[in-house]
Amino acid sequence: MTSTSIAFLDLPIVPDAAPLSTALLRQFDVAGPRYTSYPTADRFVDAFDADDYALALQGRRDAGASAAPLSLYVHIPFCESLCYYCACNKIVTKHHEKATQYLAYLAREVRLQVAQLGRGTTVSQLHLGGGTPTFLNDAELSQLLAMLHEAFDFLPGGERSIEIDPRTVDAARLAHLASLGFNRLSFGVQDFDPDVQKAVHRIQPAHQVFDLMAEARALGFKSINVDLIYGLPRQNEASFERTMAQVCELRPDRIALYAYAHLPERFKPQRRISADELPDAAARVRMLARAVDTLTEAGYVYIGMDHFALPDDPLAVAKREGRLHRDFQGYSTQPDGDLVALGVSAIGRIGATYSQNAKTIEAYYDLLDQEHLPVVRGLALSRDDVLRRAVIMALMCRGHVNFDAMGEAHRVDFRHYFVTEFAALGPLAAQGLVRMTDHDIDVTPQGWFVVRAIAMVFDRYCRENRTRFSRVV
Ligand code: SF4
Repeated sequence: MTSTSIAFLDLPIVPDAAPLSTALLRQFDVAGPRYTSYPTADRFVDAFDADDYALALQGRRDAGASAAPLSLYVHIPFCESLCYYCACNKIVTKHHEKATQYLAYLAREVRLQVAQLGRGTTVSQLHLGGGTPTFLNDAELSQLLAMLHEAFDFLPGGERSIEIDPRTVDAARLAHLASLGFNRLSFGVQDFDPDVQKAVHRIQPAHQVFDLMAEARALGFKSINVDLIYGLPRQNEASFERTMAQVCELRPDRIALYAYAHLPERFKPQRRISADELPDAAARVRMLARAVDTLTEAGYVYIGMDHFALPDDPLAVAKREGRLHRDFQGYSTQPDGDLVALGVSAIGRIGATYSQNAKTIEAYYDLLDQEHLPVVRGLALSRDDVLRRAVIMALMCRGHVNFDAMGEAHRVDFRHYFVTEFAALGPLAAQGLVRMTDHDIDVTPQGWFVVRAIAMVFDRYCRENRTRFSRVV
């Protein structure tokens, strides 16, 4: 639903945080990944194929009852109209009959996955993303859920979330989602300003979102999220301040505030955006700083990289209690575990592997026609990858790494293994962004502003990779 542009700024709201320093933000305005996985998806290789994925699934089945419950992700690629900032994998069409065919292929994929996993695998979490999941009508959504229920064993009370394009739902549709067991919603808002909405070709009057929010609350949905983007065309400090004021009035439980990355050579829809209409780097930094102030004053807690939540939201509670995790959707309260991803271009994680389905619908359908799992690339993580993933996620989720515990868990002499990284952390420590002792690394309140830069020190692929990511301010 939202841009998958790669943002870099990390803005903490912690009680003893120093004031947000635009100089610091500018200093660390370099390209970097979001670390929804490590290694990041650009490291996936074609050599990892459907057979490797099937082996990973079998490994999970062999683990039997000791395997933790599964998460499921279903990608619905269709959108009715094109948002010009979009960097997602989607198919823009008004032909709703395409959904019927897609569901038939999803059913084939589920059957092939279950053949490896075994029927009745326990599922604790379901997420529908896109594209626009609500491109499916009520009957199709029911059909999809029935298909999943037949193949998997859903734990009662599990998290069921869906991305919502406010232009595609009304009160009755929200009620239908509730009846299907969905309990989390994420609204794609981006900006309330009519002129900005026009410039990005996504017109959705504010009252529509306010009405839907009221309906969603009345229906009992929890942890309702709103996605916003700063750096869009025709946005300026005054207009974005008005949007942020409206967002505070709307008072979602969670807010994701992403940076728009203008990469028209990579993402074709962005060629319809005039670069002249984009706010400049200095304006973007000020917009961001002001948005952070506004959210803080409104009582929101900074969770980490782009995410905010009300203090009593489970995400904020998990942050306080050091139980935060990170998955492909961003921060999560669910423990790290296996994720089966269904649909075109979907990315999954099983054991120490990542896998991605065919990126075009033609290739996805073609593989399923041949009764093949549609995985076309992925990665089997090395021991080094697994260790670095643990370090990076510990920094990003808890802002803390204990050398002895981490070394013991991964059977390495931590201090010796990361001698180069410790040297690279030196300048960051001198700047007061991390605190290092003989036993630990801690991210300081100032360091949370740029926690991704700290995590990047432990990313062995990052240096060669930097040019693949965008600058954002
Ligand atoms: S609604 Fe579709 S086109 Fe618009 S941002 Fe989401 S995925 Fe992209």
